[in-house]
Amino acid sequence: MKKIKTLQCINCGRDHKLSEVKYTCASCGGNLQVIYDYNLIKKRLNYEVLKNNQDRTLWRYMDILPLAGFKMIPPVQVGWTPLYRAERLGAEAGVPNLYIKDDGRNPSASFKDRASAVVVARARELKEKVVTCASTGNAASSLACLTGSLDLKTVIFVPETAPAPKVAQLLVFGAVVIMVKGTYDSAFDLCLKASAEYGWYNRSTGVNPFTREGKKTCAFEICEQLKWETPDKVFVSVGDGNIISGIWKGFVEFHSLGIIEKLPQMIAVQAEKSDAIKRALESGGDIQPVSGETVADSISVSMPRDGTAALTALRESQGFALSVTDAEILAAIPEVARGSNVFAEPAAAATYAGLKKAVKEGRVKDNESVVLLISGNGLKDVSSAMKSVGRPFVIPPDINELRKLVSANKLA
Ligand SMILES: *Cc1c(COP(=O)(O)O)cnc(C)c1O
Ligand SMILES: [Zn+2]
Repeated sequence: MKKIKTLQCINCGRDHKLSEVKYTCASCGGNLQVIYDYNLIKKRLNYEVLKNNQDRTLWRYMDILPLAGFKMIPPVQVGWTPLYRAERLGAEAGVPNLYIKDDGRNPSASFKDRASAVVVARARELKEKVVTCASTGNAASSLACLTGSLDLKTVIFVPETAPAPKVAQLLVFGAVVIMVKGTYDSAFDLCLKASAEYGWYNRSTGVNPFTREGKKTCAFEICEQLKWETPDKVFVSVGDGNIISGIWKGFVEFHSLGIIEKLPQMIAVQAEKSDAIKRALESGGDIQPVSGETVADSISVSMPRDGTAALTALRESQGFALSVTDAEILAAIPEVARGSNVFAEPAAAATYAGLKKAVKEGRVKDNESVVLLISGNGLKDVSSAMKSVGRPFVIPPDINELRKLVSANKLA
């Protein structure tokens, strides 16, 4: 592929040819990053071309994706999710220029479809027969969804604690589901071993250099949807660190293509006990494992699989990291819903909890434009959402009973 220059190790800098490597660095095992020939791409992909492109999916960016072409893309619509101006929520947070990027609007209802779409297309170009993935839930349900009707057997490793709706998605789409009695981290290691032993193509976050490529398209869309402007700050919830590093790569690439003029600050929001990246950023030391315990299953990570890239994104963008408690995360679910009409799963609502904290600490100015990434839909984890809302009224089907209820609760 002429457009790809090298797969470069983010750790030691070693270059690899696309045809030589599938996963990580041959020297040090570090994660790889796809580097394109940006001069070549500039001729194909620019403001004029994008403005006239009618394709409302992430495939509008094919010229800067690591694929040979459109032939092997999965048959459902991924990407070009809405960016809403969230007036009510912004007023409540004290951030008048607040936007919500609703990535729960993807086929499997999470941001992970961006990554899976690119990886599935790549797997088909490589004529792989089996794809595998370890996941806290969303990456897996996304992979299962996108391979659903394709001749690509899908083997999934999830922790036993994955929320039931995500497990239901896996089974409905026909994946082989292996529940691991352990954490996401232990499922991850087992999946790596399975991939090596059976030759299955591994989509897992961090090891597969193409997940970041799909994820970066979210940044491209934000720029286009803001009429080619860059927001001041982008809040992203962070577990492994692949989303935040992917989105950052997208902004950097649009900047180097001359499509945008400035870069945003990336803000990482982590759960209090799943905050390995925040700790490393603030201490300046290496990433150390943490317990990873949180109600927000999608960001429950002991040892981040793309932590180095996430730290680079935070440092280069002069951003920062925040942590929020489980109580703050759960409270944010109805707040986001009532302030922006969007139902977010716990990990997605965490960005709003983080925004409130950042405002309180004086780290967001009131004239700044802020994008909150909503990375997954609330129906993904209904039992967590139910913890932060009241109960419905229950009455017999009788008008007198209704009258009593209305007057007792001052509903009319
Ligand atoms: C995966 C996921 C995240 C975190 O992404 P990382 O790349 O692990 O940092 C956040 N929110 C949701 C809904 C996710 O599925
Ligand atoms: Zn290396």
